[in-house]
Parts: sequence; structure tokens; C-alpha cells
Amino acid sequence: MTEVADQFTEERSGEVARISHWIDGQRVEGSSGRSGPVYNPATGEQSGEVDFASVEEIDAAVQAAKRAFASWRTVSLSRRTELFFRIRELVHDHAEDLAKLLTLEHGKVLSDAKGEVARGLEVIEFCCGIPELLKGGYSEQASTGIDVYSIRQPLGVVGGITPFNFPAMVPMWMWAPAIACGNTFILKPSEKDPSASMLTAELLKEAGLPDGVFNVVHGDKVAVDAVLEHPEIAAVSFVGSTPIARYVYETGTKNGKRVQALGGAKNHMIVLPDADIDMAADAAVSAGYGSAGERCMAVSMLVCVGHAADDLVGAIQERLPKVKVGNGLDPDSEMGPLVTREHRDKVSSYIDRGSEEGAKVIADGRESAPDGDGFFLGVTLIDEVTPEMDVYKDEIFGPVLGITRVGTYEEAVRLVNENPYGNGVAIFTRDGGVARQFQFEVNAGMVGVNVPIPVPVAYYSFGGWKNSLFGDLHIYGPEGIQFYTQGKVVTSRWPDPTTSKVDLGFPQTR
Ligand code: NAD
Repeated sequence: MTEVADQFTEERSGEVARISHWIDGQRVEGSSGRSGPVYNPATGEQSGEVDFASVEEIDAAVQAAKRAFASWRTVSLSRRTELFFRIRELVHDHAEDLAKLLTLEHGKVLSDAKGEVARGLEVIEFCCGIPELLKGGYSEQASTGIDVYSIRQPLGVVGGITPFNFPAMVPMWMWAPAIACGNTFILKPSEKDPSASMLTAELLKEAGLPDGVFNVVHGDKVAVDAVLEHPEIAAVSFVGSTPIARYVYETGTKNGKRVQALGGAKNHMIVLPDADIDMAADAAVSAGYGSAGERCMAVSMLVCVGHAADDLVGAIQERLPKVKVGNGLDPDSEMGPLVTREHRDKVSSYIDRGSEEGAKVIADGRESAPDGDGFFLGVTLIDEVTPEMDVYKDEIFGPVLGITRVGTYEEAVRLVNENPYGNGVAIFTRDGGVARQFQFEVNAGMVGVNVPIPVPVAYYSFGGWKNSLFGDLHIYGPEGIQFYTQGKVVTSRWPDPTTSKVDLGFPQTR
């Protein structure tokens, strides 16, 4: 296995690696004739070429998963638990290899990439408790001589479609609970950074997961549509941008599938005048620029109430020159490049757009970006942003932090509640009563009180409101288990001549 990891993580300087599919426990070279480039964002060099699956290749993966489901669903809970402990150990042992792959293809700094793997591991650890999670209920003597109990059963073949920004963790949010529940899985990862999924596939095989239970198919819209339209895929989990999430939800449900589709975000951090300003400034810089702002839970708008604005802007300005931007493999780097040149250019275009719209650019990341061909942009701070501006409305998804100044707490909450997104939100204050009022009235799925990135721990579930989630169930945690299973209620009676008689009335329980 070490060799496999080495093969994945060698820096491939000058060499373009071919990244193929993983079907039925082995690598399968793509035959569609279509493929796409994968870059090292820190150098701008192409490091890989990933095969794009055709409709037929998606079907081959589904057939493998379907064959595997027949026996996988019969594997006992204790065997599944044992296997999940082995998976946990292997992912833990290869956390550095996975993290390095993330840095090489996504660009995030190594410490951040390790954090991503660690948060994904927590979901795998949660799934080690699958016997407890699948427990049903039992009612003895619901009616005379009749017992009623509930069980949860897997759905069959399920699919996951994932974004570029968490190439290891978001797939873990999906495949771990799906497989633990007894389903078999087809993963369509982002075509921008596909290698972490391939290393995951190798690790799962090494752990002893039967062939066909976990499959990876790469590609673009053709592959996604084939997943959404395949009659033998029972459910689809999606994480990505809002327009595609909406499309996936509508197309998947139209094709009879259960769908949870998590979309984009515009996360506000409200700072009240009584907040600990140093704590809030540290949080704003960490949550605004960590992973170069390419997190769906990144803080992108600071909403400052009253004099908090001047205090906070001053404190952030002191911190910005100290943020070290560079190649994520360099242990001194705190912020890496953006994922592609096109994305970097799109993000930087918002700096001019902001000043054209009347906002005040306090720090321009184009001036502080490292030289070279990497897709870098430095930290950008834009003050005096107002809600009708594009820099306020759009999910920029880069190291661009906006500041909106308001007079009261009520105005701040109104801004959050009127926003079409509702993923994460945070409030910074020392007033427990206001914080409690805030959690009661704010329209967002994940709320932080003096915590800027309130990603729920693995035994709760993750998900936003409004345009940040299409579907009924949040991802991972207890709702993840519910999503990947269907309930069945059994009403049973054993032969008892004293209670047996013909009765054409509707069954009564008394
Ligand atoms: P994206 O929507 O462009 O891509 C996500 C997936 O959809 C990829 O696998 C991609 O191949 C596929 N896809 C892209 N265009 C498609 C099309 N036209 N038809 C069908 N499939 C298509 O998202 P991204 O740029 O990879 O990721 C960033 C986005 O994901 C941001 O909006 C971010 O907020 C969001 N995100 C949300 C969460 C969350 O939990 N809510 C978590 C992470 C990322």
C-alpha cells in the first residue's frame, strides 16, 4: 500500500498522469475518448488528465454496484463494523498521503488538507457505530398477541456527486454512511481534483471492502446526467453550487430518486459592539481566507453593528500583512492558490466590480499575490459593501472578505434572513441573551456563537436552508443514516387458536 500512496503523491513534475475510473474493485481506463486536465494550482502545470465517463461506463459501474449489493446487504452488522474499524485505521494511516494529494490538486495548504481528512475521518468513526444507528423500535403486545417493530433497510445502488473544494471529506460524508447502511456506491468526484477518490478506492479495497461496493466514475455533465437518469440508482447526494444543486434535485427527483442536494452559500458573520474585537478579527481572517475562501462555510460578509465596524476593520488590517500566501506544500504557507486560473480570474474580477459599484477596496489581493504561474490571489478586504452590489449578492468563493456596516442588531439579522442562501451564520457578542435570541430567529441551517465556521460534528447533521439545500434531509450524522435507508414496519402474530377468527372489519388495536 505504501507504494500505491507513493505513486499517488509523487509530485509528477513534468509528467501528466492518467486518472482512470474505479469499477468493480479495479482501475478501468476510460473509453469515451473524452477527458479533462488536472493542474497543480501552485505551479500552474498540468499534472494529470482525467478520463470522462460515457453513459455506457456509468452503466458498467451501476451494474457492478448492483451485483455487489446482493451480497453486501446481507453482511452482518458486526462484520460491517469490523470492516469500518479497518477502514478507519487505513484512512488514518494514510491521512498525510491523502492530504498531500489534496494540496497538489486543490492547492489548499497541507495543514488545512490534514484538517479536511481529520473531519472526514470523524464521519467514518461515526459509521463504526452502525449497529446502534440502525436500531429499530419494538412494541410488544401492540394488540392482543400482536407485536410491532420497525427496521431500516438500505436503498440499493446510490450515487454521490461532489465539488472540488473538499475532494476527500465531502465524498466521506456520503460513501461512509451509505456503505455502512448496506448500500453500494457510485462516486462522481469533481473533475478538477479527482485523485483523492482513487486513493480512497485503493484504501477501501485494502481494508477488505468487497469489489463493486465502492466505485468511482469521473466526468462532467454527461456523467452527472447519466447518474441522474439511471433507473437503477435509487438515491443521489450532491454537494456543489446552487444552480447545479437545483438542477440535480429537479432532474433526480423527476427520475424517481431520493435526492439531497447541498448548494452554495453567502455566510454572514455579525459582529456586535460588545464583541471581543481581537477574537472576532482572528475569526474573520481565519474563516474568510482559510482555504483561500473556497469553503462553503467560509465567512464572506462581515456585518458590523455600530462602532464594531471601525474597531474590527482596524484589527483585521493589522493581521492581513502577516497572512503568508504560497505553495501549500511549504510549511510556512497559510493560504494557497485558487483551484484553477479561470476561477482565480473570476474571483479577482470582483475587486474591480466592487470599486465600480462604490465599495472601498482596503486590501487588493492582486497586489500581494506571489509571482509565478500559480493561480494565486492575495487577501482582499472590501469595506462599505451594500446589499444591492454584486460583491454582496454573489458567492465569490475566493479570498475576498466584504464588510457591511449597519446601525442595529435587527438590521443585521434582517440582512441574513433576506439573503437567498442560508448555509452558515455566526454572531460575535458577549451578550448571551442576544445570542440566544439570534439562534431562535435566524434563518440558516448552521449557527455559530463566537464560532465562525460552525460545521457540525459528525454525530449531528450538516446542511443549510433556502438555496443552500434542496431536499429534506441534511447530510451525514443521524439524517445521513435516514437518507440512505428506508423504513419498514412489521406487524406480527404467531398462531394462537384462542385469538384466531374471521373478521372483515378494519384492523383494530384494542
Ligand atoms: P459545481 O456545482 O461547479 O460542481 C459540483 C459537481 O457538479 C462536480 O462534480 C461537477 O462535475 C458537477 N457539475 C458541474 N457543472 C455541471 C453541470 N452543468 N451539470 C451537471 N453537473 C455539473 O461546484 P464546484 O465549483 O465544484 O464547488 C464549489 C461550490 O460548491 C460552491 O458553490 C460551494 O459553496 C459549494 N459547496 C457547498 C457545500 C455545502 O455543504 N453546502 C460544500 C462544499 C461546496
